[in-house]
Amino acid sequence: MNGLNDTMTYRVSGSGESGMDVEKVRADFPALHQMVHGKPLVYLDNAASAQKPRIVLDTLQHYYSKEYANVHRGVHYLSEQATQAYELAREKVRAFINAGDTREIVFVRGTTEAINLVAQSYARPGFKAGDEILITTMEHHSNIVPWQLLCEQTGAVLKVAPVNDAGELLLEAFEQCLGPRTRLVAVTHLSNALGTINPVEQIIEMTHAHGARVLVDGAQAVPHLGVDVQALDCDFYAFSGHKLYGPTGIGVLFAKAELLEAMPPYQGGGEMISEVTFEKTTYADIPLKFEAGTPHFVGAIGMGAAIDYVTGIGLDTIAQHEHSLTEYGTQILGEIPGLRIIGTAHHKGSILSFVLEGIHAHDLGTILDQAGVAVRTGHHCAMPVMERFGVPATTRASLALYNTQQELDQLAAAIHEARKIFRL
Ligand code: PMP
Repeated sequence: MNGLNDTMTYRVSGSGESGMDVEKVRADFPALHQMVHGKPLVYLDNAASAQKPRIVLDTLQHYYSKEYANVHRGVHYLSEQATQAYELAREKVRAFINAGDTREIVFVRGTTEAINLVAQSYARPGFKAGDEILITTMEHHSNIVPWQLLCEQTGAVLKVAPVNDAGELLLEAFEQCLGPRTRLVAVTHLSNALGTINPVEQIIEMTHAHGARVLVDGAQAVPHLGVDVQALDCDFYAFSGHKLYGPTGIGVLFAKAELLEAMPPYQGGGEMISEVTFEKTTYADIPLKFEAGTPHFVGAIGMGAAIDYVTGIGLDTIAQHEHSLTEYGTQILGEIPGLRIIGTAHHKGSILSFVLEGIHAHDLGTILDQAGVAVRTGHHCAMPVMERFGVPATTRASLALYNTQQELDQLAAAIHEARKIFRL
């Protein structure tokens, strides 16, 4: 079927090839049903943060208004209810990424904090001058800067594996970067700037063969791909709740239990201790050893609701829907004169990053905004990617389960309009 016919089918039935009823899904997201600058909102900034389904909003409302008390502390009813819900959320996360044990699930603020935790608590105590950390060109700043800080602190060296012109990791070059000094590989599962899906299974196998550990930055992957940390055999896996249709301020670090057990605490405070005296403090068992202070337990419970929501629809169904949207978007954007897509990996997620000849990304973003179309413009916290592709910035449309072909048509129409304004 060509794109046009696809569009017709889509609009009539309200469901894509995936069979997902997208109108029903959209009805679950109150934020989607609003006007922006007098136009219906077309929300295509999902890689930055996704909108929230009603079940998540209701869950937050419920726990703040009805079952609210601090966790792990009180013997009273409300505290026990909140604690149970918090620990149930941990179990939901465990099942969602198929970790072997809830002790391997540490709640953190988000991907950024998870990576910093690994850098400071796993790497800093043991890494020596000359030890190597290997990342890739396509990493988000969150998976670059914590390692640079670590290198300053320990004398370790940061190495970077290159990508090809499509934005795919050059696996052979990657393997050549591995050596006897490699201690850790930190790699994104799905690039936020290019959309590339990395072959993390192979990366992990190669890295383990060299006796090093692997951290996977799953910030962009978990809302779109089924993740199985046991099948991957990754040592660390990090993600954020807010990109997964959950609340802000909550995220997850998965780490193998044996690693967490050997790691010193990240922060000191309440909840992470077993016994405190002025002479000596002993620590709580994992994962609480890494959860100092009052955790964002309502956020964790809300993220649990988001996990229920996406698993209810099914990640396969979501992936299929987003895949057909990405194909359609690639096709119609490709028809716009002067538009170049940055990131054309064979194995790609639902991210359409592009430059338009004659219009700076920020100007384009402003014009699109006037048409109600929300996209991200800039370097996407991946400045080295921009440098690799020789562009100062891109415009990025990132798609989620509630987006439609009609919205992509609106994006394309707004870009055509921008070209007219700029007399291109
Ligand atoms: N890694 C990637 C690939 C991301 O896309 C992001 C968010 N843009 C992060 C890390 C950081 O996530 P957070 O800001 O939620 O900590």
